Amino acid sequence: MIFSGIEIRHKKNTAGAETIDLPLPETVRIMMEQTMGAPCTPTVKVGDKVYVGQKIGRTNAPLSAPVHSSVSGEVTALGEILLANGKSCDVVEIKCDFAQTKSPDVRPPVVNSREQFLEAVRESGCCGLGGAGFPTHVKLGVDPGKFPIDTLILNGAECEPYITSDHREMLENAQGVIDGAKAVMKYLSIPECIIAIENNKPDAVEKMRQLTATEEHITVRALKAKYPQGAEKIICHSCTGRVVREGEFPAHKGVIVLNVSTAGFIDSYLKTGMPLVKRRLTVDGNAVRTPCNVRAVIGTPLENILEFADCKTDIVWKLLIGGPMMGICTYDMSYPLIKTANALLAYTEPIRNKKYIEANKQTNCIRCGRCISACPMGLYPTELEKAYDKKNKGRLIKLKVNLCMNCGACSYVCPARRDLAAKNQLAKAFVLEK
Ligand code: SF4
Ligand code: SF4
Repeated sequence: MIFSGIEIRHKKNTAGAETIDLPLPETVRIMMEQTMGAPCTPTVKVGDKVYVGQKIGRTNAPLSAPVHSSVSGEVTALGEILLANGKSCDVVEIKCDFAQTKSPDVRPPVVNSREQFLEAVRESGCCGLGGAGFPTHVKLGVDPGKFPIDTLILNGAECEPYITSDHREMLENAQGVIDGAKAVMKYLSIPECIIAIENNKPDAVEKMRQLTATEEHITVRALKAKYPQGAEKIICHSCTGRVVREGEFPAHKGVIVLNVSTAGFIDSYLKTGMPLVKRRLTVDGNAVRTPCNVRAVIGTPLENILEFADCKTDIVWKLLIGGPMMGICTYDMSYPLIKTANALLAYTEPIRNKKYIEANKQTNCIRCGRCISACPMGLYPTELEKAYDKKNKGRLIKLKVNLCMNCGACSYVCPARRDLAAKNQLAKAFVLEK
């Protein structure tokens, strides 16, 4: 496996912006599907009083985690919300009383064993805070008999442009991140930990090195700032040299990769018992006058976050949840904040002058091969595009379209402006459908 990665402009405008707590909104809408996996069922009804940290969404599905109220107040509606992908999701609407009364259920969990630790992580509603949203207890709960884990990688790469929420976590909650890693190592009997950070964050590397100087089993690794360095399979290879092959997870190679903010949250939950009810996110984009990092309660309307960052919502043409490479466009600014949103990027409509049109015009493939060199998975994006255009399922399978992680690197480097990454997503859906 050779990972060359691509050079992208980092645009980390908010790297120095200390996190600010966003004022509470009048109303939150909390989605019952916050992580990958099965959605939760609401446990409250209209008129119920709820408290911060109270469980309001329950699930018994193994690949899912419960949902908690992020505010104290009264349930005013149970409804549905239409998602950008066309699916719908149950949502609980709560009118805030601004008292932020803590639920009596919120207390530090009793943890003395691996099983109790995994149960606590599940009950906390924790999922990967780097954007993927995989339930953390599932990732940590690999069977040590089948997959003995010898290395925990704390992923602080944060390789997408603009986003600095993990960077701020490493500066503002460095000890919490390390303590969270130590808890994971202790309860899952993992002997070594590598904190992996891209070398465009020298202050975070330095801080982590200072705090772990006397920790024999924790090392800090400064990685090349190349996109997509933070992808699980890539960071696993960069840190350990182990190749995660098709159909495998890092655990198959003895590795668990955990986002730094997730580690910081685990530490906080073990100490306080407060579930995942708020998160830090970066707010940026050319429609935002004051790019910043904010900590907001889950369920906050996105328009409140934008307004806080001096963004006039009527000039927003494109709104991305997540980064510019892998983020998802949303059509509705009243859409609520979810646990996996590490950034909110708002852009104005481009001026479509001659220069812009020329620069963005899609032309025929010139067979330059740049997309192939850029692909971290060793795929042939140009061939995948052709196979999808011909709806050739057999060829798509042969070209391993299932391995595409939608990183967008191929589209980014293509001089012909071909929509390669988007086509791959459609192609994956097409193969599954067939
Ligand atoms: S989007 Fe898919 S095909 Fe394109 S570079 Fe990323 S992994 Fe490769
Ligand atoms: S980068 Fe674009 S132009 Fe070059 S081979 Fe790939 S699809 Fe064709």
